[in-house]
Amino acid sequence: ADIGPASGQEVRTACCYCGTGCGVIAEHDGRRITGVRGDPAHPANFGRLCTKGSALHQAAAPGGRALFPELRSARGLPRRRVGWDSALDGAAERFAAIIREHGPDAVAFYISGQLLTEDYYVFNKLARALVGTHNIDSNSRLCMSSAVAGYKGTLGADSVPACYEDIDHASHLLIAGANPAWAHPIVFRRIEAAKRANPGLSITVVDPRRTETAEFADLHLQIAPGSDVLLYNAMLHVLLWEDLVDRDFIRDHTSGFDALRAQLAECSPGAVATACGVPAERIVEAARRFGNARAALSLWCMGLNQSHHGTASNSALIHLHLATGQIGRPGAGPFSLTGQPNAMGGREVGAMATILPGHRDPANAAECAELAALWGVPALPATPGLTAVQLFDALAEGKVKAVWIACTNPAHSLPDQTRVRAALEKAEFVVLQEAFADTETAPYADLLLPAASWGEKSGTVTNSERRVSRVRAAVPAPGEARADWTIAADFARRLAQRMGRSADGFAWADEAAVFAEHVTLSAGRDCDMSGLSHALLDARGPQQWPFPQGAEQGSARLFTDHRFPTADGRARFNPAGFPQRHALLPEPVDARHPFVLLTGRLRDHWHGMSRTGKVAGLWGHTPRAEVALNPADISRRGLRAGQLVRVAGRRGAVVLPLAADAALAPGQAWIPMHWGAATLAQPGANTLTSPATDPISRQPALKQAAVAIAPAELP
Ligand code: SF4
Repeated sequence: ADIGPASGQEVRTACCYCGTGCGVIAEHDGRRITGVRGDPAHPANFGRLCTKGSALHQAAAPGGRALFPELRSARGLPRRRVGWDSALDGAAERFAAIIREHGPDAVAFYISGQLLTEDYYVFNKLARALVGTHNIDSNSRLCMSSAVAGYKGTLGADSVPACYEDIDHASHLLIAGANPAWAHPIVFRRIEAAKRANPGLSITVVDPRRTETAEFADLHLQIAPGSDVLLYNAMLHVLLWEDLVDRDFIRDHTSGFDALRAQLAECSPGAVATACGVPAERIVEAARRFGNARAALSLWCMGLNQSHHGTASNSALIHLHLATGQIGRPGAGPFSLTGQPNAMGGREVGAMATILPGHRDPANAAECAELAALWGVPALPATPGLTAVQLFDALAEGKVKAVWIACTNPAHSLPDQTRVRAALEKAEFVVLQEAFADTETAPYADLLLPAASWGEKSGTVTNSERRVSRVRAAVPAPGEARADWTIAADFARRLAQRMGRSADGFAWADEAAVFAEHVTLSAGRDCDMSGLSHALLDARGPQQWPFPQGAEQGSARLFTDHRFPTADGRARFNPAGFPQRHALLPEPVDARHPFVLLTGRLRDHWHGMSRTGKVAGLWGHTPRAEVALNPADISRRGLRAGQLVRVAGRRGAVVLPLAADAALAPGQAWIPMHWGAATLAQPGANTLTSPATDPISRQPALKQAAVAIAPAELP
């Protein structure tokens, strides 16, 4: 009773916001969710919830829901309510016609880390096995694809080695490019508790802003934006110089160290201090804290990932662990935090252009053939798929004609909004499968399909520590909204008919059957989940993978035997993370655009605020969108806090009130990512952000753009 579905008027489920993946008990009266409390039996949160999680019930039935399928007959006309059959038959006709005329790569799917694993799975099979395109990508591209590339390049697989329990065992935490106090509050509560229990726990935070997390740390390195790779290589330089590396571990369990060492000479703390914006002695101190730790754990998130050199940043940080043997034992390891509730599930399912189910690689012919056989299709497509920014560029160029968007809001969240909106205008056919009809993307939808939201559908999610939790419906979805996987499967069956193909592979009885098929594909892989099922999760509660068939339990941490899933069993010092000569920023700051714009999350809001923006109690922490500058910059430029300013970049401009914030270094500006056209009556921060992407992970550099700030001219 402690772990399975709650009885009576309560349902055990998981929070739909951040990747912490807290367990939630939702109370309901059969029609609406009336309250929530933290699940004391869930290992991610042990009963705690943050402010957002505590208001889940208030966000569960807000206004603005999509209630019925709506279709418009031509651009410029309003959408009209239609029945589900008509909506899905019409969509299948349009997709089939475009595929016939232009080929399968003329259509694309853009989905979401908010989807459940079962939703993800059906969309992925639909795109690759039925349509025959790798053009399926997720908004998780925007949050953690650089971590995926970093893990694969160093550890050999996208396997997050550590778990939350390691926070309790660590003697040193290196928190890099993350502000868990706001973005992963329950992880931060655990960090606070660990510090109380062990005052000797040392904490270093690396962040261009003096965040609440940085305030809590023993050492804050307020680095210049984009200088991460230099910093971690300089720390490694110190570790070598002071003989704080683990030479036995390097010799026995890694490859490539000599090549890296040869390049570290140019990365002394003195040599990089100016570029990093941090005194050399603080870099030395950070390295000593890491190198002398009994157990060092690194936690990171968007600050490393959302960069045009995100793979390099991730690799350089992981190298610190490989050089010191700080991996595969309690309290030690690299541990990336996922932003979204099921970004990790999407990685398992392989529902992104650059990965396949079971962490297979679409560029690996043998793995593609294996997957094709498992799916019962002759072959997987040969053409690489388009990643998020590429996908919308292809839409703008007319190469992709139709896009199916599910549970995400690209007209708010992708960089360079002007271009994204032009792409949606240009598309021949835009399907939007969404719970909300009032997002920035909704006006571009030719077909709007109402989707069930949190508390209304069932399946699973996987959190940052590889823990799979059940998500359960408590109340029926409003109007004619349906669970996402059922919409995708219904569409697939209709499309298969029009393509002259069998629809047998899309006839699951329920979400448990979808999950069962999904875990079968993972058997024998690093993310083996073949021993999991909905029934097992219901009986025994959330479980971590790997969890192979017949296992009694999953693995809390990975690589405990120091064998890695590479050809020679060794972890690699990846050249991607060696000292780089790339520009620190994706675009230069100059006299016309003198400020580096940073973007980020607030404590009490989530993404585009389609849920949290409708809960009055969540507006108290930060009641309005502002652009923040260091007080010295405000006075130097003759501005004043509170006045309206125009923030202009190379791609657009926004007008916002100005705020003074000493947490920022001079020369930096900061705008929260949440506000957009739906909440601000003007496009938000992503009007200004750069579409530059990391060359390996293809993650956009959402955190840095060059802007000018001047008083707004009154009309
Ligand atoms: Fe939800 Fe994240 Fe808060 Fe937990 S920490 S309650 S998962 S938003």
